[in-house]
Amino acid sequence: MKELTQVLRMSPSEIPHRIYGVENWGAGYFGVSEQGCLTVHPTRNPLMGVEFVALLQTLAQRKVRAPYLLRFPQILDTQIKEFHEAFRNSIAEYNYGARHRGVFPMKVNQKRSVVERLLEAGHRYEYGLEVGTKAELAAALTLKMHPGALLVCNGVKDRRYLEWVMISSKIGKNPVIVMEEMSDLKKILEVSNAVQMSPTLGVRVRILSRGTGKWEESGGETSKFGLNTIQLLDCLKLASDSHLAQQLKMLHFHIGSQITDIRRIKTAIKEAARVYAKVQKMGYPVAYLNVGGGLGVDYDGSRTASDCSVNYSMQEFANDIVYTINEICQSENVPPPTIVTESGRAVVAQHAVFVTNVIRTLSPGLGGTEIPGSRVDSEVVREMMDLHKDINPKNFREYYHDALQHREELQSLFNLGYLNLQNRAHGEWLFWEICRKAIKFSKSMKQRPEEFADLENILASKFICNFSVFQSTPDTWALDQLFPILPVTRLNEEPTEHATLCDITCDSDGQIDKFVDLRDVKQALELHSVNSEPYYLAIPLVGGYQESLGMKHNLLGSANEAHFLIDDAGRPHLDKVVRGESLAQVLISAGYPTQTLLEGFGQVLTGAQTQTKITAEEKEALSQSFEATLNSYTYLED
Ligand SMILES: *Cc1c(COP(=O)(O)O)cnc(C)c1O
Repeated sequence: MKELTQVLRMSPSEIPHRIYGVENWGAGYFGVSEQGCLTVHPTRNPLMGVEFVALLQTLAQRKVRAPYLLRFPQILDTQIKEFHEAFRNSIAEYNYGARHRGVFPMKVNQKRSVVERLLEAGHRYEYGLEVGTKAELAAALTLKMHPGALLVCNGVKDRRYLEWVMISSKIGKNPVIVMEEMSDLKKILEVSNAVQMSPTLGVRVRILSRGTGKWEESGGETSKFGLNTIQLLDCLKLASDSHLAQQLKMLHFHIGSQITDIRRIKTAIKEAARVYAKVQKMGYPVAYLNVGGGLGVDYDGSRTASDCSVNYSMQEFANDIVYTINEICQSENVPPPTIVTESGRAVVAQHAVFVTNVIRTLSPGLGGTEIPGSRVDSEVVREMMDLHKDINPKNFREYYHDALQHREELQSLFNLGYLNLQNRAHGEWLFWEICRKAIKFSKSMKQRPEEFADLENILASKFICNFSVFQSTPDTWALDQLFPILPVTRLNEEPTEHATLCDITCDSDGQIDKFVDLRDVKQALELHSVNSEPYYLAIPLVGGYQESLGMKHNLLGSANEAHFLIDDAGRPHLDKVVRGESLAQVLISAGYPTQTLLEGFGQVLTGAQTQTKITAEEKEALSQSFEATLNSYTYLED
């Protein structure tokens, strides 16, 4: 392997920052080397970075193919530390009289390697888990946690779920059953009597303050979760009547994910803290105030309250929570609660980077290549040739409008049978070339007319990339979420292409056509023209939700996964490779067990042999080749 530059100096060029905003969303984890390569700095030390190309070389040598999901476990360590230290700082600063306890919400990323690493890194902070289903609970029961760590059990529950939560306290966990509806209490009572255990209880309370952005629906008055004030009072009374009042230890709120505006957080916390104080004063022994998740990630790096950004830091988030709860508890004269947080996205988003390779590019017209000369016997085409020849910075608007009209004429002439295919092709080619020239001229205008910006987007190339949006960045499809996307090399080189990305599913939704931009949302991404060298694109910040929501659309499975660590000398180590799903594995989920496939194919071969379409040798060879194919990668291999 090529000797790696140990000290990577940051790129002096402004291109990577101006165009791709690396320093804005990179958060110290991502940078650009002097050679124009994307770098990762898992400990946030600017001197301890590695170029992605070096990592990709290592994988190529190991015959691990793109696309990849690259994991940097040390980023998880760094995030866990910073998150908890942020709360420790606030608690010290405001002289807060109780502790902070974090739990990781498993739905954000259930991958065992991720959750285990988080629990390990969070051991000294007694970091725990939050689960929302039986399956997440079952996984949590097997994981090593600090004996003092909390196991917060949310979600809609049946008896089996409740039973296992209660049993978990017998085997060393600290579960809290968070009730989401009144009927939970009745069930809890029954199960508790049956297993002879008194569980610690919490109540999820619906608050009126909502989140902001794409995920705001999970909070607020009409949220599907939690009890409103009337139900809360009923529930408290029922708890008292059933002698469960003393078990009621936690109040829980969650106003939604990716809260973009810090003011929303403050307002919600104020409301939550008041509810806590009032319930305390009613004599219930609540000791934990669980503020849920919501801490956002600055995906576009703009530090604003726009959908894919946040206008606050982790420290400000902690400060506002601790300060607000403290103030309210003092004014209400109640003891301050232990603050429980369930932040997921902000803890894991940075640790995973998806990398795909560009397979080919398409552009409207012929992408600039000259078409072979054909005899022009159409007046319209001849006029377009003149437009193409004479268009200049002074007349381009007018000429472009003429070209639009000519193009319509071409279309009618063709439909009426007056134009041959050669002339039609020639006309189309001229049209797109005129558009390209017009765009170029329009760029020098002080006030560029909107239509040329739109035209530029229409003319954007399509970069076909070896991946599935549905599997690897599902939120770009489902929620129009934006992730930063950039090439891993050539970052010092001025890009010449405007492109949207298409995946290899046969679904027209399988594309990305919105990109992060400091001020706006870009409809096309600036990229380089692809030569004979492989061209890789990185999609950072995909460590939260994308894996858990990813789906096998078109039977494209999980990507090859590689875990990289960086040692004290700043050298990368490939810690682990997890092969992406094979054809056989994805087919199982659609009801084709491998054995059934092999037998079915065997019968087809026998049939073909009986009809003497293939020989016995061919049959054997095909059978082996089929099996090997079932074991291969679902993505393009060449
Ligand atoms: C999804 C969820 C979280 C995690 O939210 P993030 O915004 O990812 O931190 C926390 N708590 C509950 C109850 C959730 O449903």
